[in-house]
Amino acid sequence: MSERDVDLFVIGAGSGGVRAARIAAGHGARVAIAEEYRIGGTCVIRGCVPKKLLVYASRFPDAFEDSEGFGWSVPEATFSWPKLIAAKDNEIGRLSSIYEANLVKAGVEIFRQRATVVDAHSVRLADGTVVTADVILVAAGGAPVKETFPGAELAISSNEAFDLPELPERILIAGGGYIAIEFAGIFAGLGVDTTIIHRRDRLLRGFDEDLRDEVADGLIRRGVTILFEDEIDAIEEGGDGVKSVRTKTGATIEAEAVMLAIGRDAKVAGMGLAEAGVALNPRGAVLVDENFRTSVPSIYAIGDVTDRLNLTPVAIREGHAFADTVFGKRPVTVDHSNVPTAVFSTPELGTVGLSEAEARAKGEVDIYKARFRPMKATLSGREERVLMKLVVDAATDRMLGVHIVGEDAAEMIQVAAIAVKMGATKADFDATMALHPSAAEELVTLRTKWTGD
Ligand code: NDP
Repeated sequence: MSERDVDLFVIGAGSGGVRAARIAAGHGARVAIAEEYRIGGTCVIRGCVPKKLLVYASRFPDAFEDSEGFGWSVPEATFSWPKLIAAKDNEIGRLSSIYEANLVKAGVEIFRQRATVVDAHSVRLADGTVVTADVILVAAGGAPVKETFPGAELAISSNEAFDLPELPERILIAGGGYIAIEFAGIFAGLGVDTTIIHRRDRLLRGFDEDLRDEVADGLIRRGVTILFEDEIDAIEEGGDGVKSVRTKTGATIEAEAVMLAIGRDAKVAGMGLAEAGVALNPRGAVLVDENFRTSVPSIYAIGDVTDRLNLTPVAIREGHAFADTVFGKRPVTVDHSNVPTAVFSTPELGTVGLSEAEARAKGEVDIYKARFRPMKATLSGREERVLMKLVVDAATDRMLGVHIVGEDAAEMIQVAAIAVKMGATKADFDATMALHPSAAEELVTLRTKWTGD
């Protein structure tokens, strides 16, 4: 046994760090973990989980309205933001306790304080204690990007959005990525006058173009205002809690809340990584090889701190693979291809594989597309659409990408991702019997190649 205090010291008890700690302990390692905030990390405490709960809350008004077409008469509904936030807090408290109990059960020592790297084999806790370790795993995650324009301190990030004391009357959200779009859907659904301000001419850069348009159209249909090709220049306190926002194109927007959702950076500031010799990429994220090893052989990193695919299931898979490789003597790598992802906007977006543009850059493709009114909308009367799109390799018939916008897109994409990952062909999709009546049956009944709008 090593003379150092522990075999593994994990910095950050988020989804990835907790998984790595538990699996390494299961392989017999003496493990310690440090967390400066709450056990569970971004996803559990102020990310995926509370976000999804708020998304559910935001969709009830539509459900109440839609029910009338099905014979229901719903008395005027009332909503309490504090009640929702209290229920959400209760649930994340429960989940955080489970994470903690699992660590304790696995025999992992927990330090509830910040830890920074001193050198290749030691970390310093906030109280000054130095702990030595054979291996250090950096799983510190990411944090919202901050801005420096005048009045930027008056804006909130998603961190604070989860705990607003009251729902604002109006909100201005800067950004056109996952978080901006998801929160726009949440706030608009809850009745907040919602505006997105985005520096480009389209939302969701990197996603398939049809998905980008469909989501923007859907948000606009739900009453969200989108200001394209503009950015916040300055924010001033306008009295009575109103913020006055000046934009680069000279517009003035007033809102009770301004939220910046302009990306997340690896959380490496003040961690001592560069000083310890750990190489960072130009964006400040930790550089790792395929076994999650940094430029210092005893220091590893997983999850958002490496800024590759910043998704919880990826961090969990990486944490598990790291522990198996380093402590289970079973080398495991993580395949970052064909990872399904969803944007829980309303309408919802789910996607796996290559976008049409990415696929075309590699070779000839066949496109299959359907845009239709879901069955529920026939009676509800709601102006609602579902978009389904298949990107197929023309040479091999292999399914390269499946893209959906509409209700339950995330659920459908998770299942479609199995087929894409297995290398299914369009013929395999065609050979699968439709399940009727469903929206998903379109995925196996699309027969005609798309030849242009
Ligand atoms: P994203 O990277 O998704 O989007 C950032 C957005 O902000 C982009 O539209 C970007 O525009 C814009 N932007 C960047 N810098 C500036 C700037 N200086 N001024 C104005 N606009 C700017 O980041 P998010 O914060 O939305 O989310 C962070 C990450 O967290 C996601 O990428 C994802 O990996 C993860 N996440 C996943 C979720 C899920 O799985 N459902 C939910 C939420 C987050 P441009 O396109 O021009 O760069």
